[in-house]
Amino acid sequence: MTALYYDAHLHTRLCRHAEGEPDDYAAEAARRGVPGITVTDHAPVPGGFESAIRMTPEELPLYRAWIAHAQETWRGRVDVRAGLECDYRPGFERWQQRLNRSGDWDFILGSVHCNMRSYRRLYYRFDPEAYTRLYYDHLARAAETGLFDALSHPDVPKFMWPERWNPDRIRDTIGRALDRIAATDVALELNTSGTLKPYPEMNPSPFILRMMRERSIRVFLGSDAHEPARVGSGFPGALELLREAGYVKISFFVERNRIDRPIDEVARVLRK
Ligand SMILES: [Zn+2]
Ligand SMILES: [Zn+2]
Repeated sequence: MTALYYDAHLHTRLCRHAEGEPDDYAAEAARRGVPGITVTDHAPVPGGFESAIRMTPEELPLYRAWIAHAQETWRGRVDVRAGLECDYRPGFERWQQRLNRSGDWDFILGSVHCNMRSYRRLYYRFDPEAYTRLYYDHLARAAETGLFDALSHPDVPKFMWPERWNPDRIRDTIGRALDRIAATDVALELNTSGTLKPYPEMNPSPFILRMMRERSIRVFLGSDAHEPARVGSGFPGALELLREAGYVKISFFVERNRIDRPIDEVARVLRK
């Protein structure tokens, strides 16, 4: 049985920069009336790159054991699902194929985190527009690999230069990337953790949500919680933003299949 909706972006202490285990996130979900969670901790990447902020390949079985334990413990109260948040960069495709086959995953979430050398160069050159163009090209390429069900927080460059984030100058860049993403049927996230960051609003910005809606791109909700207390946080406001952008449904993934639910139905449960 699938839940009415899920917080589909959560971490665990295995990534070394978050707190808690799936059981702790499920307990918080139960307390807050969130009917489902999909655990999506930071997956390993090739070459041990950034191993200080993610699980190792050897830890994948432990990760699955934690999720299985939470599934058992919370059965009938909170539906717990298994996912991964996977860093995408060109050249990672073979690795990603292997990860996708490494278990029965419910949700494979792709992320472009701007942690490649090319981003650093543009950052130190103070070239926000070139940086943003590179980011949106990578985001569209990630969708075009066909390896991900959805992509996370689709406007992170705004946190790099909060004072220079200029929607008008990058609208065409974003539009072209969204055209490419829409052609792949990959979903995008509305991530509620952005309100805690230097440009305090959710990701993406409302104008991007409207551009996504114009292209019929599906949206899923994620808190990106790195501590159990943030499970489901900001979801009522996120549903409101989606409505304002013209959305009537939100989506989530179970056994890597997309399920769409009416926003009204989800919002009624959230209000309780
Ligand atoms: Zn993280
Ligand atoms: Zn995340």
